[in-house]
Amino acid sequence: MIKIRNLNKTYNLGSPNALHVLKGIDMDVKGGEFLSIMGASGSGKSTLLNVIGILDNYDTGEYILDGTLVKGLSETRAAELRNRKVGFIFQSFNLISFKNAMENVALPLYYNGVPRKKRNALAMEYLEKLGLGEHADHLPNELSGGQKQRVAIARALISRPSIILADEPTGALDTTTSREVIEIMRDVNLKEGITMLIVTHEAAVAKATDRVIYLRDGKIESDKHNPNPVIEF
Ligand code: ADP
Ligand code: MG
Repeated sequence: MIKIRNLNKTYNLGSPNALHVLKGIDMDVKGGEFLSIMGASGSGKSTLLNVIGILDNYDTGEYILDGTLVKGLSETRAAELRNRKVGFIFQSFNLISFKNAMENVALPLYYNGVPRKKRNALAMEYLEKLGLGEHADHLPNELSGGQKQRVAIARALISRPSIILADEPTGALDTTTSREVIEIMRDVNLKEGITMLIVTHEAAVAKATDRVIYLRDGKIESDKHNPNPVIEF
């Protein structure tokens, strides 16, 4: 579902401060995979995830998502593809502070033009799936970190994306809550067959995934199958 060939990205291309961040990335991801990208801070993990999520573009090489070449797309076409194919989970949750849990979950459907009644009903369904039915009318600041991340997972799921991209999803959570979030992500991966790509610098998170890619200074240093994934925090 993801095919990346010799992909390069430079920030401030052409300026004296140019920063070559992704240096010839080759990567394939199949539907239903549960994998992680590890690497030191500054190694290019978020940049790669943003390119994969069509939030950012790249300079040379090729990126194909579900058969579509993602290159030189107009803003509109990029947004359309992103809304249809990709769900995001962030370290800082990225919930809208003045909208309640249900409205936050429903938001992607608003962008896809789904009428309010229908999108709120679906949002309730997903909140209930994630054990948050009782918290539907709570604002983000009335929820714990773990609950916020569950709202974000529901929001990522609601448009039935083919891939969910998570950038340090446990970075702001304590150990017990991190474990809970990774268990939920694994569960969603197995039950819904959704591909999950998790960027992390936590070894415990990587150990829970079936495949670990190490990024070092903008290059893939290793890409290994993990024969025995365990959730151990
Ligand atoms: P990681 O997520 O692995 O910490 P990033 O992809 O965020 O790494 O960043 C890789 C490098 O690119 C870092 O040196 C960072 O400072 C730089 N960088 C990230 N975003 C930008 C940007 N928008 N403009 C310029 N440089 C950036
Ligand atoms: Mg990062």
